[in-house]
Amino acid sequence: MVGAPALSTDAMPELPEVETVARLIRPHLIGRTIEACDVRWARTVGGRVASFESAVVGARIECVERRAKYLVFELSRGGRPAGALLGHLRMTGRMHVEDAAWDPGKFAKVRLELDDGRAFHFIDVRKFGRLEFTADARAALGELGPEPLGDSFTPQWLFDALRSRSRALKPLLLDQTFLAGLGNIYVDESLFRAHLHPLANSRRVPRERADALWREIRATLSEAIEREGSSFDTFYRTPEGNPGGYQDQFKVYGREGRPCVVCATPVRRLVVGQRGTHVCPRCQPAPRRAMSGAAKSARASSARALAPQRR
Ligand SMILES: [Zn+2]
Repeated sequence: MVGAPALSTDAMPELPEVETVARLIRPHLIGRTIEACDVRWARTVGGRVASFESAVVGARIECVERRAKYLVFELSRGGRPAGALLGHLRMTGRMHVEDAAWDPGKFAKVRLELDDGRAFHFIDVRKFGRLEFTADARAALGELGPEPLGDSFTPQWLFDALRSRSRALKPLLLDQTFLAGLGNIYVDESLFRAHLHPLANSRRVPRERADALWREIRATLSEAIEREGSSFDTFYRTPEGNPGGYQDQFKVYGREGRPCVVCATPVRRLVVGQRGTHVCPRCQPAPRRAMSGAAKSARASSARALAPQRR
């Protein structure tokens, strides 16, 4: 079923892939009651199989949502809220809802039998994925930034949020407490499209570049969702078993040495915060000085003192 190619840890399901999974499994799960469950790998459910089973068997699935890179299945019993399942695909997790006779293969980790005779499967080659029960999904998710496709993510919010920090753009955008759901691929793509360097200091991003970044983050994610996410290895598949289609649209990610789609300068790969990072050196000019700690804070305070008021 699945081989084991060299796997880049840079490539994991992000917002568009998780959103695709949520959209495709939602209609098969909402209103279904979980009649039985079979956990084949205890760590997938957080280690406590018996308590997982008693929490989910007999519960009805009320809704299936995505928050950041998590899937949240809200549960009820007797019409009252009864906790939630929190799913995270990590590197190789897959979710399928199939007829009872369907064989999930040897990497199946959790099976939930539904009251319509079908079954939900969590399949995970590398075993880093999770499907855990929580009494309180909001508390379990912890502090997360706004959803980049939600209403509270506005150009003004982004500009203010960038200005109120003094961090390199890429690590900041990967920080889930700053903005929820972005990972390595879509940060590289969005920064390229906004003509911003991954090491540029957030405090120094001018208003028009912040607006461009807001626009390009949303456009990149929306286009990727439209194509059901990105697959560049054998792992990410939609719940219908198809690869995503967005990998063919990448402008910089994974294109090291190939010509920039805008200016033909070869795309360069850097390492930023231990993550492989792809830039066009011409379209995304590097900040003048390296972001060393002392220089960074000294520069940030002088920038604060000197910066004209911008609205
Ligand atoms: Zn270029």
